[in-house]
Amino acid sequence: MTVLLSAQAIVERRSIACGTLAPLAASLRADLAPLLAAGAPWIPPEKAQLSRVGGRCPAHGTLLEFDPWSPRAHRCPDCGTVFHEEEHYRWWIMNYQLWLAERAVHAATLSALTDDAACARLATDILAAYAARYAQYPNRDNVLGPTRPFFSTYLESIWLLQLTVALDLLEAGDGPGALGAEVRERIIRPSAALIASYDEGLSNRQVYNNAALAAAGALLDEPSLLARAVAGPSGLEAHFARGLLADGTWYEGENYHLFAHRGLWYGVTIAEAHGHVLSSEGRRRFREAFATPFATALPDFTFPSRRDSQYRVSLRQWRMAESCELGLARGDDPRLISALAALYRPDDGAGASGRATSTAEAERNTPPVPLTRSSLGWKSLLFARESLPPLGGRVPASVHLAGQGLAVLRRDEARTFVALDYGESGGGHGHPDRLNFWLVVGEARILEDVGTGSYVDPTLHWYRSTLAHNAPLADGRSQWRATGVLTGYDERAGEKAGLVSARASIAPGVTVERTLVVMDDYVIDELRWTADRVITFDVPYHVDAEMANGGRWGSAVLAGGRGLEDGFDFIAGSEHLTGTPGRLFHAQVGDVRVRAWVDCDTPHEWWRCVAPGPPGDRRRRFLLLRSRARSGTARSVWSWKGTVSACAFDPGGISISRGAWERHDHRRDGDAWQVTRVRRSEQTVRRLGGALPACEGTTPRATAESSPSAGADLEPGANAATPSLALPVAAGIVPPLGEVAGSLTTLPATAVSAAAVEVTADAPEHAAPLRFPLGRAHYRRSEATWEDAGAPVATVGLLATPTHVVVEVAVRADTPTFAPALGDNPLDNEHPDINSDGVQLYVGAAQGAGRYYSWILVPEPAPVPAHEPASEAAPARVRVTARAAFGPPLPLEASARLTPDGWVLRAAMPRAALVSGGAGDFTLDLIVNEISPDRARRRGQLVLSGGRDEWIYLRGDRQDAARALPFCLPE
Ligand SMILES: [Zn+2]
Ligand SMILES: [Zn+2]
Repeated sequence: MTVLLSAQAIVERRSIACGTLAPLAASLRADLAPLLAAGAPWIPPEKAQLSRVGGRCPAHGTLLEFDPWSPRAHRCPDCGTVFHEEEHYRWWIMNYQLWLAERAVHAATLSALTDDAACARLATDILAAYAARYAQYPNRDNVLGPTRPFFSTYLESIWLLQLTVALDLLEAGDGPGALGAEVRERIIRPSAALIASYDEGLSNRQVYNNAALAAAGALLDEPSLLARAVAGPSGLEAHFARGLLADGTWYEGENYHLFAHRGLWYGVTIAEAHGHVLSSEGRRRFREAFATPFATALPDFTFPSRRDSQYRVSLRQWRMAESCELGLARGDDPRLISALAALYRPDDGAGASGRATSTAEAERNTPPVPLTRSSLGWKSLLFARESLPPLGGRVPASVHLAGQGLAVLRRDEARTFVALDYGESGGGHGHPDRLNFWLVVGEARILEDVGTGSYVDPTLHWYRSTLAHNAPLADGRSQWRATGVLTGYDERAGEKAGLVSARASIAPGVTVERTLVVMDDYVIDELRWTADRVITFDVPYHVDAEMANGGRWGSAVLAGGRGLEDGFDFIAGSEHLTGTPGRLFHAQVGDVRVRAWVDCDTPHEWWRCVAPGPPGDRRRRFLLLRSRARSGTARSVWSWKGTVSACAFDPGGISISRGAWERHDHRRDGDAWQVTRVRRSEQTVRRLGGALPACEGTTPRATAESSPSAGADLEPGANAATPSLALPVAAGIVPPLGEVAGSLTTLPATAVSAAAVEVTADAPEHAAPLRFPLGRAHYRRSEATWEDAGAPVATVGLLATPTHVVVEVAVRADTPTFAPALGDNPLDNEHPDINSDGVQLYVGAAQGAGRYYSWILVPEPAPVPAHEPASEAAPARVRVTARAAFGPPLPLEASARLTPDGWVLRAAMPRAALVSGGAGDFTLDLIVNEISPDRARRRGQLVLSGGRDEWIYLRGDRQDAARALPFCLPE
């Protein structure tokens, strides 16, 4: 038995590879010609490295072209500049290693199917060279899990997967030889062990860890490794159940869908080849997932750039065609036939497919090019059908993906695309853009989502703001992480009127329902909000519009949240206008003339600002409606064919005139919507929406708790099941640090372990603080275990005064290493202060509606003059950086000092900001970051709520709010 298919199956494929697919085999061999001519393959001596600079044009942020033959000269595709810096070379290594490993599979496939001796030699040479090199790459300084050649585990997984498949195909004829034993012992076994040590839960990356482990388990004949990859807690079946939603979409967005599904294909193929019976629901979702990228395609055949997706990526790429072919190889599906008809449509265009420089399964998109079956990859040579059924196109229909929470309503032979993106929040790659409104007519993207540009460019924070979307926000802050719920969907084939509506809680105490009524040539957008207080309610519309009736823009500054990802820091040139009922805007988007009538039933104003456009594009203007009220309704009518001549809004409905002889009257009727078409004396009534079928009302949600990339899920009351710890109250003010001999943590106290939370009956007169010793069980590691990191420990003390809650943390450290204030993190997009000795503090308050705050605190000891000995009790200022802030500002005072065995930091916050009336429940979590002087990235963390068996990678300064410990402030 071999990894992907049996030796017998390989023999049977030969006639197809030399028959109908012979042009594909010839094309793949042509890709290998330069390598075949070059002799022994070159292997970089350094490991790959990720930095902010590496691999991107400093002027454009564009990814530099990857040329496997040019390690030291890297060209920007936008400006043509060639760069030679070391950082670009270290980034290029990643692409090169993946490219070379994939060439080994190409060569081994051709060897197995066409008896090509030169290809067999090439695959052998690559495997032998890596067997000699692998152990020499150091496993350290990684960004995302342990690895030797790379900086992230999943990249090593993709690489190992290629090498394992290549070796297996080489051995298909003659069985294992000396090379096979060497590759098994020097690469596959140690690399698989390293990958197995790092579990990424529900992340798309774990899909590839599973695929590599399954392949290694198959080749090493270790059934337990294969079984774990299939049925383990983060295995293939778990991904089917929780990562791939019931509608066949991966929860992290379009580009991660394509990436994850390619990885799932390996898992499924290996599992089935080795007799694992996969769940029928898992197989159904996997099958469905071949078709879903085409179900939501825009009129220009790109996929929607939702979440962290790249912008305007065409589906017309050879990998998409290969995916359709692999789907069809598993069974008939008219949707895939239709997709292939579009992909293989003869086209006047020209251009290389990019396959010759492809980097295995890493996600690198290429411009659309004409495709044929000869454009496919090695997998098609092994698995695609001998010949395809007749390819026929179908006009895409409207679709509702209930798992993902995305409804696409199409009109005009699919030339018009209207969507409401309301559901699944998308884990760490999700954007705070619930209830985002899309309107695309042909090539004209009137309202859309532009995805994300570079992860290492500051504009990332704009693209990850609500303000960058056509989605509502409250009090100038990006939405908190929320999953919306469908409240209505009524779309029937052949009908010209359809409706979708959904509801989401976008901020504590703020609920918004958005309804789109989609007609043949116009859309009604209705937003209704209710809050438990007066809020500022903003609705951005990302269209560069002019006013059509009255009024004059005056320049003013648009105020908003100052958070990193609130987006307001990115806007400029703002103009302002008082709102009047039924204002009309018009805009030219490509060849489409758009008119929008807008009405709001509360006092409001209009804003127009300049902000970053789509990634790689120039800055552009957008509109924003701002109101201030506890509740209200904003309605707009969007017309793009010139057929709507006037709109009249009244509290009960909207009357839309279409010339002199036709009128559409829209009335909300409870949960339903009534459309009355009046034409001369004729009248037709259509009722839309109303009660939803039971299964439609809820949105299955991928739980991302086990994913380190998942951000904080801010669910108030998540700690309800855990009893609160009553906080001791001191009679007076706690003295400032450094002014008294003792500190909170050195006062006698009842030790309370974070692991065993129980209510303690403290005697208030002693005012002994709650103490939490942090050690091994609280340690979150990187490459070094707690022991290897020098067994770091700290003690957290908590106490209340009549006016404040005081937190104190005493850290044992031989060489406290505090980072200086940096404007930028050269390594990545995280806040630079996480790579320092310091503290991350998280507070959830119950005052009024749920509030949530977080800070990074780094002591700044005064510089010690060179001629003086360092004082061991020197007081230090603390650099306090507020991060999350849901709720009114919460002032935090902090001080610190060095101690003989480390450092101590104290922070205090007013009781009144946490609890109403000075008493009640709140939550708190605290993380101590620790770094050694020789490191660039932090080494580990001590986490108050526990960190055992966890890794620090990708966590940044984020912490799951649901894990915070509950405390109670007595009267
Ligand atoms: Zn450039
Ligand atoms: Zn987005």
